[in-house]
Amino acid sequence: MDFKSILGENCKTGELLKDHTTFHVGGECKFFLTPVTEEQLCLCMDIIRKENLKYYIFGKGSNILADDRGFDGVIISTECLNDIIVHDGVYIEAGAGAGLDKISDYAMENSLTGFEFACGIPGSLGGAIVMNAGAYDGEMSHVLYQIKILSEDGGIKWKEASELELGYRKSNILANNEIVLAARLKLEHGEKEKIKAKIEDLNDRRREKQPLEYPSAGSTFKRPEGYFAGKLIDDAGLRGFKLGGAAVSQKHCGFVINYDNASSEDIKSLIKHVKDVVYEKFGVKLECEVRMI
Ligand SMILES: Cc1cc2nc3c(=O)[nH]c(=O)nc-3n(C[C@H](O)[C@H](O)[C@H](O)COP(=O)(O)OP(=O)(O)OC[C@H]3O[C@@H](n4cnc5c(N)ncnc54)[C@H](O)[C@@H]3O)c2cc1C
Repeated sequence: MDFKSILGENCKTGELLKDHTTFHVGGECKFFLTPVTEEQLCLCMDIIRKENLKYYIFGKGSNILADDRGFDGVIISTECLNDIIVHDGVYIEAGAGAGLDKISDYAMENSLTGFEFACGIPGSLGGAIVMNAGAYDGEMSHVLYQIKILSEDGGIKWKEASELELGYRKSNILANNEIVLAARLKLEHGEKEKIKAKIEDLNDRRREKQPLEYPSAGSTFKRPEGYFAGKLIDDAGLRGFKLGGAAVSQKHCGFVINYDNASSEDIKSLIKHVKDVVYEKFGVKLECEVRMI
């Protein structure tokens, strides 16, 4: 069995990762696989593990900086595992590839509150769980109930959210070599009109504060304890600083943006420069939130 026989047209070769990342950066990968069922994903992982191939899971690629030299391995995109259903009144169950915006709309349509915080985060459910994504006082750990994972030994099981060691923008999923297949969120009954108004308000706040007109991966750095990364970068005089095609956003200094056809090297060099200058001026070590491949 090979990838093509499992996935047909959903097995691509030589796909450019810049077409699958919100930074719009990244070279060719050997295989780009888009399974449409969990079974297909598991069969592909069997091959990857048997043949000891390099692999990387993509949700929506909104927190990934992919190298222009490409990836000499297999990318598995969860894009098509995107069903969303509601059950037992307050639970939403969705596939790992379901978009957070879609889930948040779905919750609103079903008058369920608690997921509004995620409406403007351009990620998938799986990626958001791995990153314990959060915004506006909400984060995945507040609403996550259970996740369905494919474990390293090929077994599928449901885990409780409490087993994931969810912390600030982290979980233990990648360290355990697990893949999120689906998850259940526990929300609360609310009023549809109020939920809708909150979603609109949060989206307005994002449009006002964030450079959504440029490709990026959102906040480039984690929030250092006791500080705000954006403020430190601004105070270091780096607002709008450019290196090649990459720039520190004028609008929000916490965002490194692809200002003008940046290469992955431009972005990496700018990230390094920002870290060095902030450390030199304030003695604070910035840590990257963005994942590099
Ligand atoms: C404009 C913009 C605004 C943003 N705002 C926010 C914000 O407010 N708050 C916030 O927290 N983040 C924000 N982000 C960052 C990003 O959207 C989140 O981290 C998001 O949760 C990543 O989801 P994704 O599906 O894109 O994951 P990817 O970027 O595709 O992947 C992220 C990591 O998760 C892994 N992964 C993805 N899916 C799975 C899976 N099913 N199983 C196992 N591993 C998986 C990947 O291998 C990778 O290591 C923003 C990004 C942008 C571009």
